Amino acid sequence: MKILITGGAGFIGSHLCDRLINEGHNIICVDNLGSGNINNIKHLLKSKKFTFIRHNIIEQLRLIEGRIHQIYHLASRASPRDYQEYPVETALANSIGTDRMLKLALAKNAKLLFTSTSEAYGEPKEHPQNEAYFGNVNPVGIRSCYDESKRFGEALLMAYHREYGVDVKIVRIFNTYGPRMRKDDGRVIPNFITQCLTHKPITIYGEGLQTRSFCYISDMVEGLVKMMNSSEIGPKNLGNPNEMTIIELAKLIKKLTKSRSKFTYNQLPKDDPTKRQPDISKARKLLGWEPTVGLEEGLKRTIIWFKKNGF
Ligand code: UDP
Repeated sequence: MKILITGGAGFIGSHLCDRLINEGHNIICVDNLGSGNINNIKHLLKSKKFTFIRHNIIEQLRLIEGRIHQIYHLASRASPRDYQEYPVETALANSIGTDRMLKLALAKNAKLLFTSTSEAYGEPKEHPQNEAYFGNVNPVGIRSCYDESKRFGEALLMAYHREYGVDVKIVRIFNTYGPRMRKDDGRVIPNFITQCLTHKPITIYGEGLQTRSFCYISDMVEGLVKMMNSSEIGPKNLGNPNEMTIIELAKLIKKLTKSRSKFTYNQLPKDDPTKRQPDISKARKLLGWEPTVGLEEGLKRTIIWFKKNGF
């Protein structure tokens, strides 16, 4: 198949490119290299089956000839530090960018999968979060450029589906980690790993009692592919339900890196969700998917990658 991946040079996108190239597909990777990195796809650039287009999906994409069978629309900044620095670009990538991709899907009769987010649940009043929960999002808060544009993206997919019959798929991605995360993207796992490897203070925000549930990258990619190739439409949570506090995470990374780092406590960022855990019963039942890589194993692989690739 010919498959277009927006955000294909990013953390998740580049692993998805690898997976689909290995399966023999032709890949068109579209990325403006805003938060993505050419090094993530360097090894694919020589392949005849791989085309890279450096492009910001907010702008009109040049004509792509022939059929496109599937579109994975991942392009968006995804780390809170990044999207708060580029709020307009983030809001537009998930709104105008999604509209452009939906128009392309309509023209090419392609399936389109949109990567929404656990942030769609905001500061959740239900725990764990299942797909039927509508969420509790601050529409004007500092995270709204991301949360609300992802929510709008979901709504736009459903609109194209209902009005034009476009074959759409929505997934809500929970915290994901692994090799190729940017060490400076501000997210908790790259921060803690680089701090521990350099024996610098581990920056705990707030008291570190907020929780997250971390999914290893290979499990996430498997979930994306299973969803794309299913007959499902509506949102499916993809994530690992293994919930833990940020303090517990810090202790584990400190142990695995044998670090001498000490904890330092910083202010909790505004609108930082206090808890987050996916209910993945739907993905289990309807996609036959569940994570297989435990946190300790996934962190070990990620730490090795950070050591090899500079930290
Ligand atoms: N966090 C932290 N120290 C850091 C970076 C993040 O304590 O150096 C906390 C952050 O406040 C949040 C959690 O870790 O509660 C996850 O943050 P991240 O930015 O990775 O992603 P989020 O889940 O908030 O999108």
